[in-house]
Amino acid sequence: MDIRFEKSCPSCGAPIELNEGERVIDCSYCGVKNYMVVNKVLRFVLPHKIPDTIPSEDRFYIPYFRFKGAIYSHWHQDVECTILDTTCSGIENLLFPASLGLRPQAMALTVLEKAENISGRFLKQTQTTRAVFDRASAVTDYFGVQNSNEILHRAFIGETISIIYLPIFRKQGGVFDGVLNRFLFDEQPTMFSDEKHVGYQKKWAPDFLAMVCPHCAGTLSGEPDSLVLHCYNCDRAWAEENGRLVAIKWLAGQIDKHTNHPQLPFWKITLGLDDERINTFGDFLRETNQPVIVRPQHDDMQLSFIVPAFKLQPKMFLTISKRFTMAQGKLGDGGRENYGKLFPVTLPLKEAGEAIKSILVYSAVYKKKLAPSIKKINVKFIGNELIYLPFYQKGNDLVQTKSNIAISSNTLYLGRNL
Ligand SMILES: [Zn+2]
Ligand SMILES: [Zn+2]
Repeated sequence: MDIRFEKSCPSCGAPIELNEGERVIDCSYCGVKNYMVVNKVLRFVLPHKIPDTIPSEDRFYIPYFRFKGAIYSHWHQDVECTILDTTCSGIENLLFPASLGLRPQAMALTVLEKAENISGRFLKQTQTTRAVFDRASAVTDYFGVQNSNEILHRAFIGETISIIYLPIFRKQGGVFDGVLNRFLFDEQPTMFSDEKHVGYQKKWAPDFLAMVCPHCAGTLSGEPDSLVLHCYNCDRAWAEENGRLVAIKWLAGQIDKHTNHPQLPFWKITLGLDDERINTFGDFLRETNQPVIVRPQHDDMQLSFIVPAFKLQPKMFLTISKRFTMAQGKLGDGGRENYGKLFPVTLPLKEAGEAIKSILVYSAVYKKKLAPSIKKINVKFIGNELIYLPFYQKGNDLVQTKSNIAISSNTLYLGRNL
């Protein structure tokens, strides 16, 4: 479930409410659009009811990591997919609640971005992000039916990690939950000693980019959750990388002007696997034991994985990736004319790349053959491209015009809210 939070417009300061996955900040007060840099952990604060009489030296913020994403665990026979949405304490002190429970979803969070709004100190996190992943995995094992010793490989796909601070305060030897203004436990001797906390850091605030095309200075377009911004003036597409907008190669399917078919985005990732063992599409068909005749033209095709550039339920994500990868060469030509309506990219290229091994094993007819070597398989990325494929509506499904592969509209809608 997405959390909602409030932040101020980077241009005029007006308050704006956003969903966690939203990046395009379209201010209705000043009309300016800004893009929030993705590769930075967002930090939020829960609302507090700390009495005004409590001085700032007695106010503290306890860090919690929030993990939301899909975990793919590979076993000999199968892959198990779990969607996890959890918080866990970023410090080792066991007296504080281990997680925030439902509070992040139920309350209006505020982004940590202005020093003047903050009174109090921040306890330093003593757990690493790695520990959060491990704990997230442990939860999966707990609910999974398999024995965790049998896990061959684990991938985290499409995850977001953020930090949510729980406000607390101390009064007359007691420590209180600042959200509920409720006693928690007696203060421990070194709990709040000076080396354990820091003041607000300016670098924690989110960064923004102006939505202006770096090539032609035209205005960039994108839906609120879009990770790729388009310039319809010079037909270039841009994605943020390390705080900068970088041009990405893209093509769309050619459609008839009157049909107005929607186009869904896919990452076409060209690669070699396992030190040249699987280099061509023919190799892929053979290694995964597909029930098709491998023809000479399959061996002339460099292997590409065609992976949805939008979020889907994990099993559906693997199924769709497999089907489109199998259909490569039959998806039609791309261009940049008459492309109609483009569906937003909500899964970054990096995440699609991390799913390659999972897709490979999932595609295999005899999983037992490929699965044991999954950890060792080497992926050598050769190139990537964003391709939009046109789909037509048939009942509740969207059907790709060339390959006839169908995706239910409902799946698409559910995925967008993951
Ligand atoms: Zn504004
Ligand atoms: Zn441009």
